[in-house]
Order: sequence, then structure tokens, then C-alpha cells
Amino acid sequence: MNKTKPVNGKFELIRLPYGLGALEPVISAETLRFHHGKHLLTYLNNVNAALPGSGFEGMPLEEIVQKADGALLNNAGQLLNHNMYFMQFAPVQADNFPNGPLAAAIDVEYGSFENFKQAFVKAGAGLFGSGWVWLSVDPDGKLVITQESNASNPLQHGLRPLLTMDVWEHAYYLDYQNRRPDHLSAMWQIIDWDIIEGRYNS
Ligand code: MN
Repeated sequence: MNKTKPVNGKFELIRLPYGLGALEPVISAETLRFHHGKHLLTYLNNVNAALPGSGFEGMPLEEIVQKADGALLNNAGQLLNHNMYFMQFAPVQADNFPNGPLAAAIDVEYGSFENFKQAFVKAGAGLFGSGWVWLSVDPDGKLVITQESNASNPLQHGLRPLLTMDVWEHAYYLDYQNRRPDHLSAMWQIIDWDIIEGRYNS
């Protein structure tokens, strides 16, 4: 996968490749504004503040997530999780599905795209507390869905992450309150499968 390198010793806030209102009604502009401009910015600032003297200066974010521990790991994990999350969306498409080798792999593993979506939403809805649900590739090339608690990223257990949904309440509470499964089910309309296929094929 592509490595995220610091510039002059600091990681940078990703620019969203869409407008704040572009993901409505699935994710409101207000949620996006706080999630990207406040929550993600805080994780980024915490990582940058922790880097000097840590021994991880200049290291790509993906390697920090694999090697660090404690507060640096938690903030670096959240930075990587959110970067991958925000970069995988596009404006609402009613009929939205993967193509090519990824679509074939989903059919092999889950029987159909519909079954895959159900299994993914079930994993996200069933994750206790805060965390992330991920689709990844395991070392044998097999697709796997994992529940990751808090700031955990699949890279920490040898998986190659492709697609994620954030199940921390800050990701959906303004728009969906306690209805996490409704939020997760709506998210399929804004997944940019070109991005996910690119991650799978890389
Ligand atoms: Mn979040």
C-alpha cells in the first residue's frame, strides 16, 4: 500500500476530495466538518507533538502504526484510520458496487455483494464500544472482515486494509443518534469503489 510520509517532520491534514455537503444525506456537512476539521485534526496534532524524540521521526505513518505503542500508537492509528476513511468516499450513487477482481473475490468469499454488505454491517453494528469495522486482505490473499477496537488498524495484525467504517459515535451521532446500523447501511451509497479496487489491486 502507499506510504504516508511526514513533510518536514510533520504529517499533514488530508484535503477532502469532495465538498463538505457532497456526502449528504448519508453524512451531513456538519458531521463532516467536525469529524475532519476537529476530531481528525486533534489526532494529527497529537501525533506531530509526540514525534520529536520518540525515535519514530521521519517514519511513514503505516510503519509507526505497526511499531509504536501507547499514546503515539493510539493517535497514529486514528490518523491512519481516518485518512483511509475520508479518502474512500464519493457523492451518493444509488446503484453502487465494486467491479473487476475485487468484485470476484467478494463473490468467492461471501457468495454475493449483498451477503458481504450484510456481514460487514453486522460486524460494525455488533462491535461493542468505539472502533472500526474493516475489510482487509490476509497474507493468503483472502478477504476478511474484522472488528477493530478504539484506534486499532488491521496492519497491526498483518492484514492489508481496504475499506472501513468508523463506528465511534462522533462519526454518526449528529445524523443518526443511536441508530448505528442505519448509518452503516446508508454508507454503501457513498463508497468510491474505484478507490477500494485501487487498494485491492496495489
Ligand atoms: Mn472518527
